[in-house]
Amino acid sequence: MLQTVLGDINEKELGYSQCHEHLFIRKGKSYNINQALYMDDLDKSTRELLLYRTAGGKSLVDAQPVGCGRMADYLVQASRKSGVNIIASTGFHKRMFYNENHWLFKKKTDELSRLFMDEILYGMYIDGDNEQPLLRIGARAGIIKTAVEGNGVDEKYKKLFTAAAEASIQTGAPIMCHLDNRKDAISVVHFLTSLRVPASNIILCHLDRAFYDPAFHIEIVRAGVYLEYDTIGRFKYHSDEKEIELLMGLIDSGYASQILLGLDTTNQRLSSYGGAIGLDYILNEFIDKMLKAGISSHSINSFTLDNPVKALSIKKR
Ligand SMILES: [Zn+2]
Repeated sequence: MLQTVLGDINEKELGYSQCHEHLFIRKGKSYNINQALYMDDLDKSTRELLLYRTAGGKSLVDAQPVGCGRMADYLVQASRKSGVNIIASTGFHKRMFYNENHWLFKKKTDELSRLFMDEILYGMYIDGDNEQPLLRIGARAGIIKTAVEGNGVDEKYKKLFTAAAEASIQTGAPIMCHLDNRKDAISVVHFLTSLRVPASNIILCHLDRAFYDPAFHIEIVRAGVYLEYDTIGRFKYHSDEKEIELLMGLIDSGYASQILLGLDTTNQRLSSYGGAIGLDYILNEFIDKMLKAGISSHSINSFTLDNPVKALSIKKR
C-alpha cells in the first residue's frame, strides 16, 4: 500500500516515480536562506506536473515537511488537477530552516512522534510554520522526512530522529533523510537501525551530491538502505556522465534494486518557474543518457518503477 495525498493506491498504480522533489515551498525562513526555495503558485506547479505526466511520470514524493513551508492543501489540489500521485512528507528538515523558538524544538520526543504519526494516520496540518500547528486537512502524509547537517545525529538532532523512528515503527511509513556528508550517512543508518527501524525502510538522499565516492556508496548500500540520487542535471556539482558512473558502479556491484532517482527541485530547476530544467528532465533527457552509456532498460525500470514501490510503501505494522 502507498499513501498519497488523495488516498491509498496499490503498487500497480504507482508507476514511474521520482522520490525527492519540491513542488511547493511557502515563503519563509527557507527563502531567507536561499531564494531558490520558494514556489507557491498553484498554476505553475500544476503545469510542471502536467509536463511530468506527459513525459510519462505517474507519481512523486514532495519532500517538504510539516512546519517548514509545506503546502499540503496545494499538494492535494495539484494532484487532483494533474492526475499525478503525490506522496507528502511529515517529519522535519535541517534545523537552520526554522526560527530558534520554533515549536519543533520545544516539543518532547513523544509529542513529536505523536504529531508525525497523526499526520500519517489522520491528516496533515496546513499551518505551523511559526505557530503551533492547529489546522488539519484529511489528506495524509506517506513518508517521514528527516535531515542532518554535517555532524550526523548529534545531541541537537537526537530527539528529532528518535521521534521519527518511533513514528516509522508505529505506522510502517518509510523515513527519508537529507544528508550533507559521509559522516551523516554512517551516523543516520547507525542511529535509526539501532532503534530498530529496518534498513529497508530508510532512504538516504543526496549522497551523490554530498560525497562522491563510489566505493563508499557501495559500503553504505550494503546495510540494506535505499540511496536516492538527485544530482542529475545539476552541473555546478558534476556532469550527468559522472552521475551515470556512480549508477553503473552500483549496478555492477549488484545493488540496482536499492537505487531511487529524483531531481530535488527548486524554483531554479522547475521550468514553469523559469528554472533551467523541468520535472520531466529525467524522463526526457537523462534516461536517454543512461541508455546510451549502456545502462539496461531493466535497471532503469528498477530505479523508477520497482524500487519506488518497495521503498515508498507503508510496511505492515
Ligand atoms: Zn530536498
